[in-house]
Amino acid sequence: MTIPVFRFAPSPNGSLHLGHAYSALLNQKMVHETDGKMLLRMEDIDRERCTPDLENSMLEDLEWIALSWEQPVRRQSEHFPIYQEALNRLIEMELIYPAFLSRNGIRHEIERSNVADWPYDPDGAPLYPETERKLSKREQQTRISAGEPFAWRLNMDRALEMVGKPLVWHEFGSGKNVDARPQDWGDIIIARRDMPTSYHLSVVIDDALQGITHVVRGKDLYHATSVHRLLQHLFGIEPPLYHHHQLILDEDGAKLSKSRKDTSLRSLREKGTTRQEICDLIGL
Ligand code: GLU
Repeated sequence: MTIPVFRFAPSPNGSLHLGHAYSALLNQKMVHETDGKMLLRMEDIDRERCTPDLENSMLEDLEWIALSWEQPVRRQSEHFPIYQEALNRLIEMELIYPAFLSRNGIRHEIERSNVADWPYDPDGAPLYPETERKLSKREQQTRISAGEPFAWRLNMDRALEMVGKPLVWHEFGSGKNVDARPQDWGDIIIARRDMPTSYHLSVVIDDALQGITHVVRGKDLYHATSVHRLLQHLFGIEPPLYHHHQLILDEDGAKLSKSRKDTSLRSLREKGTTRQEICDLIGL
């Protein structure tokens, strides 16, 4: 029998808050209940916003809430060549293309199109216009060589065609299979010009490489799982089981944010809050 492998995967671009404590400790609880293993992964592909200081202070916070994990900690920033390889596979499969429209460019294109009910993705961003899917290789190359900024986007229609069947994932908390709806995301960004990956690409590659069997994370990533299922299928990766847990909200019912100081673990610790009080606050 395989040992269940869980992970906590924060991005060191701000301070951990009560919501992170909930996610980390819920993972730990499930690790104990299943005799599983706990891994820690720093999702630090954004080299501007993620800093060693922020990572160190996250590690201190995690030690303070008594999270324990197996060494080594995986840092995504140390594995760019692996993501590049995965990106190259998608390029070879002709599933992605360089997309040159900036955010403003997208807005203009939408206005120009006169489509009144332009579709938006589950995160609230307008779907990418499909106009550039058909650029010739030569034109792509000319624009790239001219230094035009671009992102690598998935040709969603082509990817869905290649999959050719509906995809599902399993929510082990509710015991239900969920129909994946990658089409709701349109031509999503898979990598950037100066970064051979994105959250979606690296999370899928790393969960597979680290042998993660159970992904326990916040409901805010529920819809992103559709994209992850699609990528897993394209790469021939067996999906892990998922549990998307409730989010800890502030007194106004809003999601906690990494920039808010008063609910950061650090400020709570400095105010003398104990670990037990943290557990009581998050109901664990
Ligand atoms: N790095 C992501 C975050 O901090 C979490 C990724 C995941 O659990 O899949 O929001």
